Amino acid sequence: MEHPVCPRCDKDFTRRSGRQSAWERLLSTLDVYPFRCQLCTHRFFCFQRGAQYMRYQPDQREYLRVPTAIPVSFLSERAKGQGMIVNVSMRGCSMESPDQLQPGDILCLSGQEANGLPPITIEAAVVRCCLKQQAGLEFLRMQNGEQDKLRQVIEGQEKVMHLAGHCRRSIPWPAR
Ligand SMILES: [Zn+2]
Repeated sequence: MEHPVCPRCDKDFTRRSGRQSAWERLLSTLDVYPFRCQLCTHRFFCFQRGAQYMRYQPDQREYLRVPTAIPVSFLSERAKGQGMIVNVSMRGCSMESPDQLQPGDILCLSGQEANGLPPITIEAAVVRCCLKQQAGLEFLRMQNGEQDKLRQVIEGQEKVMHLAGHCRRSIPWPAR
């Protein structure tokens, strides 16, 4: 199944989005589905003839996280420490850190330059969950320029995954 090109930024790193209303469910009976651009976050509708409907899973993320290895330092009200961003999307990331974090902690993240990727600052991210030494973070606030850098990182990583022959974007469609 083709991934439709985003009408706003012209990239094809897009993903099926959950249907949010009765109207959108009705549209899907006409083979018109919502998609989310993974780079510019634009949500749009696209006609996909014969696309088999697959129920939206709550655990299926709206934004796919691409694998990364970005060293970061972070600062919270309680602590400061070091970590590694192991995957990232435009809306959040997973960070490995030996430092103790708790759900609800608000962090400021400063990424270091790594593998030719630009250093990124995320002004505010909230810890949503912690499992052993890995924390799930949701981004709350980021400067526009930083969003652009993050977009570059994600687009670059997505290309690397594609070239490496990895399943490009976890599968929003049933295999045919
Ligand atoms: Zn886009």
